[in-house]
Parts: sequence; structure tokens; C-alpha cells
Amino acid sequence: MKAIRVSSFGEPEVLKLADVPDPVPAMDQILVEVMAAGVNPVDTYIRSGVYARLPDLPYTPGLDAAGIIRGIECTGSCALNVGDRVWLSGNLGGAYAEMTLCAPSQVHRLPDRLTFQQGASIGVAYATAYRALFQRGNGKPGKTVLIHGATGGVGLAAVQFARAAGMRVFATGGTAAGRAELEAHGAAHVLDHTKEGYLEPLREWTHGHGVDLIIEMLANVNLPNDLNHVARGGCIVIVGSRGNVEVSPRIFMQRECDVRGLMLFNATPAEIREAVAAVQGGLESGALTPVVGADFPLAEASAAHAAVMAPGHRGKVVITCRTT
Ligand code: NAP
Repeated sequence: MKAIRVSSFGEPEVLKLADVPDPVPAMDQILVEVMAAGVNPVDTYIRSGVYARLPDLPYTPGLDAAGIIRGIECTGSCALNVGDRVWLSGNLGGAYAEMTLCAPSQVHRLPDRLTFQQGASIGVAYATAYRALFQRGNGKPGKTVLIHGATGGVGLAAVQFARAAGMRVFATGGTAAGRAELEAHGAAHVLDHTKEGYLEPLREWTHGHGVDLIIEMLANVNLPNDLNHVARGGCIVIVGSRGNVEVSPRIFMQRECDVRGLMLFNATPAEIREAVAAVQGGLESGALTPVVGADFPLAEASAAHAAVMAPGHRGKVVITCRTT
């Protein structure tokens, strides 16, 4: 089969298309033909060798995918069958490939209304959005939430989850097309995070109360300003940060707010099961619909990595691994 292989950490060009042996499932493994793979920023951090957890070289990148089950080796009963359309919440061999192996707990039925590209957009983004809003952020119906950096994979998933939970959503994006997407998914108000003073309208929209919950995708840029707009007793959940930042501890005292970190890899198996159940329920009810912003062929994985790190998001970046 064809797969992307990385033999040395570095720039996107280290992602090379190669011929490798087809994987064969061992006991308690499922073989999935990968129709599309999702591209996450963490894939680029790992590829460049700067991430805390690095695989042994050479490796095939990619955590998220969707495809068709081609083999099942299970000791017990398995709810899925060969031929089923599925999305993956992780895998054992890398997703940027024509086939991958998974543990049974990583394989979930893909509703018929969703394409494989949408299925490849689910895993990390929706689990992170759920964890940010509900496991770390204690989001509740009727509360306000600012999704700061909402046009990407995690942000759009968070907008959909928050709306489905009855929260009032304020969301930021860097382009008009991205902000239109946020409005289409139910954000009450959208803001342009490239403009000076863009968070000021939040004072009026929250009647001076401030925002109950802020989900932050770029904390090294935004945390000081978030602290000016979080409600007293509110919470800021840091999902993304790409550098350092200076803040005054006094504002934590004045706001009596919580600033909480999130790392999806720290979630317990029980927390992951809860998140996957919430995602699956939302996909099946129609409350959650992944948005695909850009689609690249497998041979152009390096261009997909450049795209996920570029501004101007409007949903997920995906790679199509099979065209039929
Ligand atoms: P993505 O799809 O690449 O989207 C990036 C988002 O950041 C876009 O919405 C982009 O908006 C926005 N952004 C750019 N400049 C911004 C600014 N000045 N202020 C606020 N937002 C800004 O990435 P993602 O998958 O949604 O992930 C978002 C971040 O969370 C990444 O840094 C990722 O590494 C991190 N993450 C962390 C975890 C974890 O476990 N902690 C899990 C998943 C993701 P425009 O393009 O519209 O400007």
C-alpha cells in the first residue's frame, strides 16, 4: 500500500510517499481501509521534532481518519462488521496511509449522512472541544462562552457542542469567510481577532458581566486580554499556546477566575469514552456536523501540513487517501 513515511524530523518536505507492506491485524485489532485522514496541528509539531512525545523513526503520521473496515480479529463480540463505514479516535499504525490498524475501542460507526472527509475531521477536534467545554470548563446551558479562535477544527466543534448544550456563543475568526461559517453554526456574535480592541463589544453583549467561559486557542497572544473579559468566578480553558506571555496575578484575584490547562492526551480512558459517546450522539442526532475546509491528495501531505499552520481557517484540513 501507499503511505506517508517520515525518516527524519524537519520541515513539511520530510513527509514522503512510499510503498510499504499492507498491515495485517493481530488479535484484538481492526484493519481499516483509510479513505481520508485528518490533519491536526499536533501532527506538525511531531513531524518537526519539537513535541514532548515523539515516535521512533521512521513512522507514518496521523491520528484521525475515516474509512471502511476490511478485517476484524476480536476475541469477544464486536459491534461492527467488515464493510462498515467508520471514523477513528486514534489508530495503531498512522492515518496518512491507505490502510491502518486500530484497537476496537478506536473504531466508531460513521453516520451515512457524513462523507469520509467529514469523518476524518472528528477525532482530536471533537474530543478536545468536548473536554474543553464540559470536562475542564464545566459549561452549562444558559452560560456564555467565548471561543477564541473558532474557525479551525477544535473551534468549530466547540461552537456546535456549545450551541447544542444551550450556551450563548461568541466566536472569533480571522477572515470574513471563517466568521460567516461561525454564524452559520449558531454563534450569537462573531469577532475579528485581527482587529485592535476586538473584544470590547463583549462588555455590552454580556451587560458588563463578562464571559462565563473562554476557550482559548492561542493563549500566548490572548490570555492577558481574556482576563479583562472573563466574568467574576469565570473560567478560561487553555487549549492552544505557541509561546510565553506575561500576566498580572492581581487580575486573577480581582476576577476570582480559574485558568485551566487542557491536554487531550491526559484524558483518562473513562473520560475518552464519555467524550466519544457525546460525539457519537451528536453526529447521529445531527447536532454535530464536521466542516471540511481544505482537502489534499495523499501525495501532497506536505502541502496539507503547511495549510494547517497558515491563517484563514474555515474548518478542518484533510487528506484524501483513496479516491474510489
Ligand atoms: P486549526 O484548525 O489549525 O485552527 C487554528 C485556529 O486558531 C483558527 O481558528 C485560527 O483562526 C485561530 N487563530 C489564529 N490567530 C488567532 C488569534 N490571534 N487569536 C485566536 N485565534 C487565532 O487548529 P485546531 O485543531 O483548531 O487547534 C487549535 C489550537 O489548539 C492549536 O494550537 C492546537 O495545537 C491546539 N490543540 C491542543 C490540544 C490539547 O490537547 N491541548 C488538542 C487539540 C488542539 P483564523 O485562521 O480564522 O485566523
